[in-house]
Amino acid sequence: MTNLLWLQGGACSGNTMSFLNAQQPSFVELVREFDINILWHPSLSPELGDAVQDILKGCCDGSIPLDIFVYEGTVINGPDGTGRWNRFAGKPMKDWVNDLADQARYLVAIGDCASWGGIPATAPNPTDSEGLQYLKKKRGGALGTAYISQGGLPVINIPGCPAHPDWISQILVALATGRARDIGLDELQRPKTFFSTFTQTGCTRNMHYTYKIAATEFAQRKGCLYYDLGCRGPVTRSSCNRILWNRQSSKTRSGMPCIGCTEPEFPFFDLAPGTVFKSQTVMGLPRDLPEGLDKVGYMKLTAAAKVAAPQWAEEDIFLV
Ligand code: SF4
Ligand code: SF4
Repeated sequence: MTNLLWLQGGACSGNTMSFLNAQQPSFVELVREFDINILWHPSLSPELGDAVQDILKGCCDGSIPLDIFVYEGTVINGPDGTGRWNRFAGKPMKDWVNDLADQARYLVAIGDCASWGGIPATAPNPTDSEGLQYLKKKRGGALGTAYISQGGLPVINIPGCPAHPDWISQILVALATGRARDIGLDELQRPKTFFSTFTQTGCTRNMHYTYKIAATEFAQRKGCLYYDLGCRGPVTRSSCNRILWNRQSSKTRSGMPCIGCTEPEFPFFDLAPGTVFKSQTVMGLPRDLPEGLDKVGYMKLTAAAKVAAPQWAEEDIFLV
């Protein structure tokens, strides 16, 4: 049996809502087939008041083994570093986080807020929020750069706003079945299996990207969403077009540009807001180019691609 405790700090519960829609495996399968014992979850567990405190204290003093500690939302430090703006079960949540992190075999940050502070930590960051081991791109966060869980891993970041449900449930399975060492983390402590490729991988509009045929409106059935609508698919690490949402579709398949929600800078990026419209282009091109391309090279490529575009690239694509 694997004990799992799930707490929420500065959060909207969006990642919980996402997680409850997991399909491969589902929440029920995690419990029944993978023997994950939910010690407590804010939306699922009946315990209140003293009963919750008893569980948390038991995890902190070691009388209840804490195999997986899942944290959703930011760690709130305000006002003045006290954490009093987010008290929970008798003390600031940030103190629970520190005490529980010391005991946890594995610590998993779910969503952007827990991973890097997300929207609440965006300047001016009124609640003095941060992620578990990052503040935006800067490593450190609430637990510091040196933090390593009892199982020998740093915080496992599963970002997204929200995180894809199956990213969450599949990592929980890996931890519960003794395969933590197989997960493999990238430079931002994200599981490589979900974050080594770009959102663009598997996008049904790749042919339009190649031939520079632009969609000019949301939900348009033809055209790449990069040129006029600022899709961040080429610069965002996610598997949204490999592991479809609800096993059916994705933002770009349905005609909504990727807004880069798995990256630490989300929702405000250095070069441009999440969506780059025509007025924010340089010489007719979006300001943030795909990796490895300069503007001159890109313009040459664009001209050649447009001339070479075959008829089929001008036709509507099949969308699910
Ligand atoms: S719609 Fe976005 S993800 Fe798809 S091909 Fe165009 S830029 Fe890439
Ligand atoms: S397509 Fe982009 S914005 Fe949408 S969920 Fe995936 S990474 Fe986030």
